[in-house]
Amino acid sequence: LNRRLAEFGTTIFAEMSALAVRTGSINLGQGFPDTDGPEEVREAAVRALRDGRGNQYPPGPGVPELRQAVAAHQQRRYGLSYDPDTEVLVTAGATEAIAASLLALLEPGDEVVALEPYYDSYAACIAMAGGTRVPVTLRPHEEAPEGPDGDMGDAARSFRLDLDELRDAVTERTRVLLINTPHNPTGTVLTREELTAIAELAVERDLLVVTDEVYEHLVFDDAEHIPLATFPGMRERTVTIGSAGKTFSFTGWKVGWVTGSPELVGAVRSAKQFLTYVSSGPFQYAVAEALALPDTYFESFRQDMQAKRDLLSEGLREAGFAVYQPAGTYFVTTDIRPLGESDGFAFCRALPERAGVVAIPNAVFYDHRAAGAPFVRFAFCKQREVLEEAVKRLRS
Ligand code: PMP
Ligand code: GLN
Repeated sequence: LNRRLAEFGTTIFAEMSALAVRTGSINLGQGFPDTDGPEEVREAAVRALRDGRGNQYPPGPGVPELRQAVAAHQQRRYGLSYDPDTEVLVTAGATEAIAASLLALLEPGDEVVALEPYYDSYAACIAMAGGTRVPVTLRPHEEAPEGPDGDMGDAARSFRLDLDELRDAVTERTRVLLINTPHNPTGTVLTREELTAIAELAVERDLLVVTDEVYEHLVFDDAEHIPLATFPGMRERTVTIGSAGKTFSFTGWKVGWVTGSPELVGAVRSAKQFLTYVSSGPFQYAVAEALALPDTYFESFRQDMQAKRDLLSEGLREAGFAVYQPAGTYFVTTDIRPLGESDGFAFCRALPERAGVVAIPNAVFYDHRAAGAPFVRFAFCKQREVLEEAVKRLRS
């Protein structure tokens, strides 16, 4: 194994899902739903298979139906207009979109400023592209409860971006800002003010922005997902990444996409063509239909996930964790220190034996491991009964 990859070992998701299988534990580690996406979308995939659509190599940029559907979705939700022929590229999940974007845009030695903790493929892909990662750490915040009878146990906790730290991280060598909102693993949804500041910084320092928005439809309460590409000066410098795995609960289909200017999307396509060339033929047709589902689908998906968030957050609180109630994604980050623990790695390795539950130590998403040590992530994209059983086990 070369030096670029040697530090990364095996992805935590493989390790923890294998541990769950081995110990028969409830897997709240790796983020995948335990209920498949809409029946009619599965039917659409079967129809495509049967009708022989996509069983041979689809076109390199993706099938026209899906590129049109992605463009229509961006238009309908955000008023962003993309040309399906030159400004949309279908990828093998968001994972390939991230890899191809970084491979296409970085020169060796370029710096990439990314929000830490970061999704684990970011660091590995920056390394494979010969870039240098520069983490900006999201800091834990606690706001005093509002009500007069509120106790600190219900304090609103979140991880926030320090805009001064972000500005200070940009140097002459910075090429790309790698943003993720809603943010995995913290559940932070960047606000309009934060996104405005990021956009101004990108324009001022003439940076490219790669923004991973795979959880765009999973925002809760009064949080709002605002694509970075909608801010002034951003459309031409932003590569936006989406995924059917997250939005439609088909993580195994590996259908993702990139939108951006013809120059940027063309660059990403140059890298993508030599990674997979194409993938997921019949599933591309099905996802095209999924993206055209009525707004009621997206809204009920969101509400269902929000109810699950509440169920798991409440249960974790009752079990003694300090909970960072997420504004988005399907993950909840907790602090284990109120339980008298401080090492998330040790905690997660012991948890299957102790409680029959698997979770992810957030430290794996940090360069500054110590900053992430006491945090542990649980996924709530699971059936209610599964979450209830997990809570019962954790409480006892
Ligand atoms: N980005 C983030 C932030 C994710 O959480 C994930 C999936 N867990 C991905 C990218 C990868 O998405 P896909 O499965 O579409 O490759
Ligand atoms: N994105 C999912 C998570 O954060 C897992 C994806 C993977 O296994 N690579 O849990």
